[in-house]
Amino acid sequence: MATGVIVAADTDSAATEPGRSVIRAFVYVLDPTPDQATMLRSHCGAQRYAYNWALDQVQANLDQRTAERSYDIPDSELTPSLSWSAYSLRKHWNTVKNAVAVNRETGVPWWPENSKESYSSGIANCAAALSNWNAARTGKRQGTMGFPRFGNKQAVLSCRFTTGALGLVTGGGDRRHVQLPRIGVVKTAESTRKLARKTTAGTARIRSATVSFRGGRWQVSFSVETTIPARALHPETVVTGSATGLRRGNSVVGVDVGVKHLAVLSTGEMIENPKHARRQAKALRRLQRQASRRTGPDRRTNQEPSKRWLRTQGRVRQVHTRIGNTRRDYLHKLTTRLVEEFDTVVVENLNVAGMTRSGGVDKKGLNRALHDAAFGEIRRQVTYKTGWAGTGLVVADRWFPSSKTCSNCSVVKAKLPLKVRVFTCDACGFRSDRDHNAALNLAALAAVATGGASSASCGRDGKEARRKPNVRPAVVRADGIAAGTPPGGERGRGNPVAHDECIKQHSK
Ligand SMILES: [Zn+2]
Repeated sequence: MATGVIVAADTDSAATEPGRSVIRAFVYVLDPTPDQATMLRSHCGAQRYAYNWALDQVQANLDQRTAERSYDIPDSELTPSLSWSAYSLRKHWNTVKNAVAVNRETGVPWWPENSKESYSSGIANCAAALSNWNAARTGKRQGTMGFPRFGNKQAVLSCRFTTGALGLVTGGGDRRHVQLPRIGVVKTAESTRKLARKTTAGTARIRSATVSFRGGRWQVSFSVETTIPARALHPETVVTGSATGLRRGNSVVGVDVGVKHLAVLSTGEMIENPKHARRQAKALRRLQRQASRRTGPDRRTNQEPSKRWLRTQGRVRQVHTRIGNTRRDYLHKLTTRLVEEFDTVVVENLNVAGMTRSGGVDKKGLNRALHDAAFGEIRRQVTYKTGWAGTGLVVADRWFPSSKTCSNCSVVKAKLPLKVRVFTCDACGFRSDRDHNAALNLAALAAVATGGASSASCGRDGKEARRKPNVRPAVVRADGIAAGTPPGGERGRGNPVAHDECIKQHSK
């Protein structure tokens, strides 16, 4: 087992490279005219239609074959399986669209009302969903995944354009307009100058534009190919030829994502939650109470929601969007600072989906939900930002007992309930804030990673092991980061062994 510590690969080359080519998203809120809003809605509806059409074709084909098999029809005589590739589904669509996408009353095809990109986008999304489902089913992708579901009117409206006239309108000097195929020039709510400077300088190329309707506003997200200058490295902190490819800088930070605080750093710094979070949470609770007093939809009685209920739901969505935007902005600022200030960032790899499902009173409520969301987001941002900067990243195995280990003497406690906020070591008497202790343990992992030890996971947590029996073997992803995996056979039953000893055992 050699996968306890996950090290970002390809960091040594960053010191010499002038910059690296990356894909970045630039998102702008749109301010469309009523006509443009109608067209945007129509394109997104067309996208959903094509998605559902493609999914229906594949599902009907699969159902047909299953039915035939149940009648003992040999495999060679079954209805031929339908190709799921976006290419062949699109080809199929083009042959049938004149018969399918037709106004039932007038008999006039309606598909030419929207850009052909809207249909391609829906079909491509469907093909991607099917391929993800298939990869998960056959074990090529981690986790379990159900068969793709049909898009309904509650789904996010979205549509992607990859060809045609799309980009920024740089003429006129106001830099507040974007060009979209078929829809035309749409005003943006904010200046596009950051992207405009790059495109005019020739350092960025817009590959596609995705419009979507989120939180009551239309927005466009440009997928941009651009070069990021590698971070200027201090020569004295660069160790070339390091075995792990991890840059051995002199500053390491461990980040423990807390419930009470947003994050606690190994430096002792406590990052508070965003300033307005409490107020926003209060507003949300108030609106949810209001909604409960109004007549909502009921599937059993076919009760239609009242206008007042829908209005409250709209406000609930707005508050959710605002909370999300605030947090995302806050997290971006935090992770950018971490990557700028430290040579190596150590984060945990917790099973976010599993955390929310179980747990008692300590694991409930909005705080917990936000914590879980922040958790995955911090890891995601730190992962790609360290990649851009060419600095080190260590992702601790999800079985690493960061909270239960003493950061002073490495003895692991058998149990540490969530409500115990202060860590007290039974062996050496070390006392520290619970989250700070965890952050210190994470920071210490960086040394293990650079020192060449093979595993940081001691996997002594028998309870967690029993709860998660279906764990897939380690998979090295395309970006060179191995996914975390628990060591299977070596897991003990909660004996407090010193951490150092455990590493020795693993590296044998
Ligand atoms: Zn201790």
